[in-house]
Amino acid sequence: MAGVSVVAAALLCAVFPAQAGEVQIIRGRLAAEAGQAPPEDKPLVLISSRTRGDNGKKVTLAGDEFSEGQLRDPRLAGREWEFEGKFAADGNFTIYKLFTLKEDKRHRVTYYCEVCHIYTHEPGRCMCCQDETELQEIPEE
Ligand SMILES: [Zn+2]
Repeated sequence: MAGVSVVAAALLCAVFPAQAGEVQIIRGRLAAEAGQAPPEDKPLVLISSRTRGDNGKKVTLAGDEFSEGQLRDPRLAGREWEFEGKFAADGNFTIYKLFTLKEDKRHRVTYYCEVCHIYTHEPGRCMCCQDETELQEIPEE
């Protein structure tokens, strides 16, 4: 169980970075072959949609291991995403928060182990019992 608080602390750091600045919201789908997850060996690229004046713009994304894990999850291939974050000087977008969009409603992606009742933030096996975790998308309150 000790691992849970470490994960939570790491996530808090990623979601609430210390630097001030203009947080922006961008939406779109990831550049990938139809029905497939983005290629593992390439940076994540968002094709923006419904972002005022920026439809179809390509944005290179930078995220932590949790964001990367979710964005590269094949089960979420083709989803529309919404990101809160900031553009860096080089034009890359640093992700602070990420959500899948279903019928325009934001959903948090999480992975649940029903054996241990533990939620985690990246795909893979349960940190406790090593069983497969279940992908869940939970509507934002
Ligand atoms: Zn478990």
